[in-house]
Amino acid sequence: MAIIVQKFGGTSVGNVERIRNTVNRIVEEKEKGNQIVVVVSAMGKTTDQLVSLANELSSYPSKREMDMLLSTGEQVTISLVAMALAEKGYDAISFTGWQAGILTEDVHSNARILEIHTEKIVENLNQNKIVIVAGFQGMTENNEITTLGRGGSDTTAVALAAALHAEKCMIYTDVTGVFTSDPRYIPNARKLQAVSYDEMLELANLGAGVLHARAVEFAKNYAVPLIVCSSLEREEGTIIEEEVAVEKNLIVRGVAFEDSIARVTIFGLENGFQQLSSVFTTLANRHIDVDIIIQNLTEKGNTYLSFSIKKDDLKETIDILETNQEALGIDHFESETGLAKVSIIGSGMVSNPGVAAKMFEVLSQNEIAIKMISTSEIKVSTVVDEEQMVKAAQLLHEAFELEAVEQNI
Ligand code: ADP
Ligand code: ASP
Ligand code: MG
Repeated sequence: MAIIVQKFGGTSVGNVERIRNTVNRIVEEKEKGNQIVVVVSAMGKTTDQLVSLANELSSYPSKREMDMLLSTGEQVTISLVAMALAEKGYDAISFTGWQAGILTEDVHSNARILEIHTEKIVENLNQNKIVIVAGFQGMTENNEITTLGRGGSDTTAVALAAALHAEKCMIYTDVTGVFTSDPRYIPNARKLQAVSYDEMLELANLGAGVLHARAVEFAKNYAVPLIVCSSLEREEGTIIEEEVAVEKNLIVRGVAFEDSIARVTIFGLENGFQQLSSVFTTLANRHIDVDIIIQNLTEKGNTYLSFSIKKDDLKETIDILETNQEALGIDHFESETGLAKVSIIGSGMVSNPGVAAKMFEVLSQNEIAIKMISTSEIKVSTVVDEEQMVKAAQLLHEAFELEAVEQNI
């Protein structure tokens, strides 16, 4: 019997009616003779509401207590889905991340999954039960509750699919698949029939919130077939797989964007690799995700260094730099917020050197100042002012003719 993992996001379980719809989708797969593991998110905007509550009571809430708080959202949904399934005559059992055997590293708010002990899930599947697992959460070796980062239920689902050798992992959401750009902001965005793991990884890392980047990483590493589709509309979704042949000749296949970016510039570093690496090691030890890095030399031979981070990490970054200023040999540093990252992605870029040039030309012709740049074989990212983010994305979507991508080629 094949195991199928179905994941339903917040909107798909946002109210009683949506939960009933979700239950129908679960029953359909069960009735095909599969063993079913379901992963659910917190209902609707629950997680955002919990974050707001915390922020009302505390200006700098501890990450441990945030995990304690946010993990409650998913626990509400698992039990309701199990009850709704029982009401329809199906044997179902709900598990928190810990009960499901999800062991994570000892990091709060953004933990990685280390291992999954699947015995309990397998035992229940073999008793013909539908197993419902709380997404986004796990447990450390010391029995501390952790969460996997916003959007992390996708990662729970794919990691379970990998550990259980599931036939596929279905991600049910509020759009009909992966689009050339976020359809909420770019009206001409088109659904892609297939995307490669690498392209999807870049899209997700660069702000396409439709999938959690670590979920794509798991899917790639364990070759889990991943399908993104709508929980409400009956439309074929997008398959994320190793090689995508049909649309390969398309140079750029997606535009991703992300707001709330901050830039930090450090001055007065002596020109030594030792110091540079010390700065980044210190930040990495505190789990600050540094993104684009630019290093420059002043006339005096000193190095100055700019890097981008998420705005949410700025306060902690400033604390770390202030505390370690002397040890790191930093003269002074500055920070800037109100920035965004706009990126183009496509595996066809490798062999097309003009793509980055075209991107910069489009932005500069439209008076959008580029503050930072980073490139890889399959993406070009720029940091721009936050107010210009959507405009920049729209211009690039048009310039690379992404609205012309055929749906369901
Ligand atoms: P869920 O709650 O189901 O996990 P999310 O809100 O996390 O749903 O992800 C779905 C959203 O991702 C869509 O509503 C859409 O606005 C956004 N999104 C961003 N980029 C893309 C893209 N390239 N394709 C499809 N959706 C995207
Ligand atoms: N509920 C969590 C969030 O809103 C996890 C998820 O939905 O994937 O980020
Ligand atoms: Mg999501």
